[in-house]
Amino acid sequence: MRSLITRPRVAAALLAGSALMFSPLSGQATARLPVGSADCFVPPASASAKGGHGPDTREVSAAEQKAIEARTAQLLKAKAARGIAVPKGALAAATVPVYVHVMRDAAGNGDVTNKQIADQITVLNKTFAGGESSAAAETGFSFTLAGTFRYNNNQWHKDKQSSSYRKQTRKGGANALNIWLVDFAYLGIATFPWDYDRSPGTDGIRVHFDSLPGGSIANYNLGETATHEAGHWFGLYHTFQGGCTETNDEVADTPAQSSPTNGCPVGRDSCSLPGLDPIHNYMDYSYDSCYNQFTADQSTRISQMWTAYRA
Ligand SMILES: [Zn+2]
Repeated sequence: MRSLITRPRVAAALLAGSALMFSPLSGQATARLPVGSADCFVPPASASAKGGHGPDTREVSAAEQKAIEARTAQLLKAKAARGIAVPKGALAAATVPVYVHVMRDAAGNGDVTNKQIADQITVLNKTFAGGESSAAAETGFSFTLAGTFRYNNNQWHKDKQSSSYRKQTRKGGANALNIWLVDFAYLGIATFPWDYDRSPGTDGIRVHFDSLPGGSIANYNLGETATHEAGHWFGLYHTFQGGCTETNDEVADTPAQSSPTNGCPVGRDSCSLPGLDPIHNYMDYSYDSCYNQFTADQSTRISQMWTAYRA
């Protein structure tokens, strides 16, 4: 497990599609790949259907990303026509109910304390409120603990049968953030909001239990893995999505970066495009202590995605 702390992590990933129109675009964003040299983790379609997963190199292609943007714009336009869109310049601003599922093994390993869970909620509230830097955006979203559930299951604890266990345990609607705490080779994995219609039962984030505040994973135990994964759950890409391209992560005020950041290399500038790498951004792969912000444009994207898919 300790190897988890020293390795680069993961890019956004996809599931292969089924018959639904939008399904080729759906998938899971995984954070913080711990082992091996692959820079992207993708559950192959055949395996993901069974809840398994394995490494791959496929990322959200530029074409797929473009289609996601078009679909989102279409949904926002339709909601605006019904008078339920967020006015330009305003934020959706909602309180998100959070359900925490502690997936312990049969012997009780993998447990976290109620205080750790409360502290994790505090971190979510602080980070989404822009509370870690004067440069950080206030997203308008807050979080409240709606329930804590503990299970003893050796398979679930190791994130096996994940599609099955998520469907069996998930609580709430599209607006509810479900966090499953497991012991796996990642820091976290998230679903994107555009997945929800097709796969509501698996919607949420899986987070390593030792990444919570007070956990044992050095450099990643301040609870900001959950912030990163929640960012995906709200519809944010990694800041290095698309590499050194103008489109990059569909967010104008996060400078392009060629690859994930490791640690906290101040001054890193991996693309010739304007701006230093956004190493302090929650959607990079920097150390928890290096993270301090979402940007204003990420905040806007969060609101738009919320309105399109979760409101
Ligand atoms: Zn990620």
